[in-house]
Amino acid sequence: MEKRKQVILGIDIGGTNVAFGFICKESRAVEWKDSEAMIQFSEAWMLADRLFQKVPPQFELVGIGIGAPNGNYYTGSIEFAPNLPWKGVVPLKRIFEEKFGVPTVVSNDANAAACGEYVFGNARNHPNFLMMTLGTGVGSGLFVDGKLVLGSDGMAGELGHFMVVPNGRPCGCGRNGCLEAYASSTALIKQYLEKSKMQETISARDVVERWKSGDPIATEVMQHSIEILGMSLANFVTIHSPSMIVLFGGWAQSGEWIIEKINHAFEKNLLEIYRGKVMLVSSRLPGSDSAVLGASALSF
Ligand SMILES: [Zn+2]
Repeated sequence: MEKRKQVILGIDIGGTNVAFGFICKESRAVEWKDSEAMIQFSEAWMLADRLFQKVPPQFELVGIGIGAPNGNYYTGSIEFAPNLPWKGVVPLKRIFEEKFGVPTVVSNDANAAACGEYVFGNARNHPNFLMMTLGTGVGSGLFVDGKLVLGSDGMAGELGHFMVVPNGRPCGCGRNGCLEAYASSTALIKQYLEKSKMQETISARDVVERWKSGDPIATEVMQHSIEILGMSLANFVTIHSPSMIVLFGGWAQSGEWIIEKINHAFEKNLLEIYRGKVMLVSSRLPGSDSAVLGASALSF
C-alpha cells in the first residue's frame, strides 16, 4: 500500500469564520483548505467534531496547530476571548487531542502569524525577528534565537498595547495612547472619518489610496500614524535587536511605496547602533493562506 501523505491541520479561529487547511509536512504546500462560519459552533467540541469529519482519508494527520484570539501556548486554552461565541476558559488543546489523538498546539493569532513567517515566509533565515500584524487590532510575535518568545504566562509580545502617546487616543483595551489606537486598520479609518466628517464606510486601504492621490486629510492621518508606527518599531528594536521586522495586514501590504514611508520613519528614529541593520518588509505569504499556514506552523 502506498504510504499516506503526512499533513498538519492548521486552524485559524476568528470571531466570524474559522479557516482551516491541511499542509503537507514534506512539501509544505497547502493540500486542501476551507472555512466555516463560527456561528454554528456554540461549543468548542462541535468544531472539533466537524473538522474531524473533514480529514481526507488519503492523508495521515500528524499534528494540529490552532491560532486563536487569546490562545495560550502554555495552557492550550483560549482565555476570555471577547469576540468568540465561547466564553471563559476553553481547553482547546485537550478537546482536540482527545478527538484527533495527535499533538495539538494553541497560540494567539499574532504568534501563529510569526511562526508562519519563520517556517514559510520572509523570516526563514532570521532567527531574531519581529512580526507585527496591523489589522483590526495590532498584534505582534517576537522570535529570539529561533524561538518564539512566550514569557512567564504565554502572554508576551503584546506590542500593540505599548503606550506611545501620553493621554493619547482611547484604545480598545480601555487605556489611552496605545500603538493600536494609531496603527491598526480600525484606527486609520476612525481618524480619517473623525477629521473628514465623512459618513460612508471606507477601508484602511482606501485611506492609503486617498493619501497617494493627495487628499489632505488622508495625508495628515497617514503621516501622523506612520510617524508613530516608525518610532514604535525603532523602540522595539532595542528589546532584542532583530535583523528583520515583518509587517502583515491590509494597509501595510499595499505596496513598496507604503513600506518605504514606514521605513523612513523607522530608520530616522533608530538608535545609531541599529541603523541600516534591520530589514523592514511586508509579508509575502498569500493573504488567503497566511492564517492557516501560520496556525499549522505552530506544529512544524
Ligand atoms: Zn491598548
